[in-house]
Amino acid sequence: MALRVEDNKCIGCEVCVHACPYQAIEMVDERATLNEACILCGACAYACPTGAIVLDRGDSDVDITQYEGIWVVGEVTSEGTMAMVTAELIGEGGRLAAEIDTDLSVVLMGDDIRHTAEQAAGYGADRVFVVDHPALARYRTEPFTRVMADLIEEHKPEIVLAGATSMGRDLAARLAARLKVGMTADCIELRIDPETRMLEQTRPAFGGNLLATILCEQTRPQMASVRPNTMGLPSFDESREAEVIEVPVEIEEGSITTKILEVVRDESRSARKLVEADIIVGGGRGFADKQQLSLLDELAEQLGAAVGFSRALVDQGWVSSTQQIGQSGKIVHPKLYIACGISGAIQHVAGITGSDCIVAINKDPDAPIFEVAHYGVVGDVAQVLPAMTEAIKARRGE
Ligand SMILES: Cc1cc2nc3c(=O)[nH]c(=O)nc-3n(C[C@H](O)[C@H](O)[C@H](O)COP(=O)(O)OP(=O)(O)OC[C@H]3O[C@@H](n4cnc5c(N)ncnc54)[C@H](O)[C@@H]3O)c2cc1C
Repeated sequence: MALRVEDNKCIGCEVCVHACPYQAIEMVDERATLNEACILCGACAYACPTGAIVLDRGDSDVDITQYEGIWVVGEVTSEGTMAMVTAELIGEGGRLAAEIDTDLSVVLMGDDIRHTAEQAAGYGADRVFVVDHPALARYRTEPFTRVMADLIEEHKPEIVLAGATSMGRDLAARLAARLKVGMTADCIELRIDPETRMLEQTRPAFGGNLLATILCEQTRPQMASVRPNTMGLPSFDESREAEVIEVPVEIEEGSITTKILEVVRDESRSARKLVEADIIVGGGRGFADKQQLSLLDELAEQLGAAVGFSRALVDQGWVSSTQQIGQSGKIVHPKLYIACGISGAIQHVAGITGSDCIVAINKDPDAPIFEVAHYGVVGDVAQVLPAMTEAIKARRGE
């Protein structure tokens, strides 16, 4: 791909200078000139009123009409069940498939996982590819990429969706590179144009300050990873049936450069998975210092809860961004969310509205969090949290 300025067409209007998000265009002798900050995004070419800036994408020899069907890259949990993020993607993939009158397939890879095909069918898959092999017992980049790439090259789906999970992010990126196609990571909304069959992939950009909708016009499959908990679960019907295709594979363990020697679970409260937790205790800027966050941990321990945070604490460097809840963090769906010292900014609330019950603790009775909370405690976290923890301990007779 290359970007060039045709000097004879450039009229020096500077529209491109303002259109460029990277300050990559300067005016030299009243002519647009690209500098090294250019990332070939093409914003200037779209904006140029005279066609002087040309984005040369190179010739694509892909016949996109050869590709059909929507695929979901399935995930299997360590307990051997299909992951809920896969169910979510089946629901979303099925909706998109109906719009373009095609079918939805799910690929499940693992060891001794044939039974998971029934789960995929129950959630709405039309076809399930089951790849069962001991080398696929736990996720590793190489064998999973190889299996998926071979299947995609053989069957040519037009869209491939993966969860924006640890596995999905890794696998989708590697696959896209292997297949030489584009991939939009971390989507929060998908739409499809029934005329062009183009997938409109929307994801937060520039630190969440705007939403970008991305199209992959030239290559197939169109690939996207989708943030868990953004699409909602489809209904499960155990009487639904799907065509199940068992895919035989030969994988030489010796050809895989990574070996899993031991799986060590991080049982710390901070490691409990936010996106799957039934109870989450969330902390915000209402805490005086980092040490005081132990009050959250103590309550979480009593409740068996995961701990998450507002972006304010991530920005302060007190906690990891992996524990941020909200629009630019994790979207959570717990049964109970306890917001402690969190004001209830719209970007935080965007991540918690799927909670069944929200309890807010805030010393300001007018804090916006009380507008979305089902129960509220007006008080200081330094007093309310230890009291709650003690009350739970007392109930348990500890
Ligand atoms: C593009 C963009 C994306 C963003 N994405 C996210 C996101 O994903 N997640 C997110 O959380 N934010 C996000 N933000 C930031 C968001 O706008 C807020 O700034 C942030 O949520 C505020 O965090 P907070 O509620 O902890 O802090 P504050 O807004 O400062 O609120 C602190 C609250 O604590 C209360 N308080 C103070 N002391 C005590 C005490 N001792 N006891 C009890 N209560 C007390 C105060 O009354 C106040 O209500 C984003 C912002 C932008 C611009």
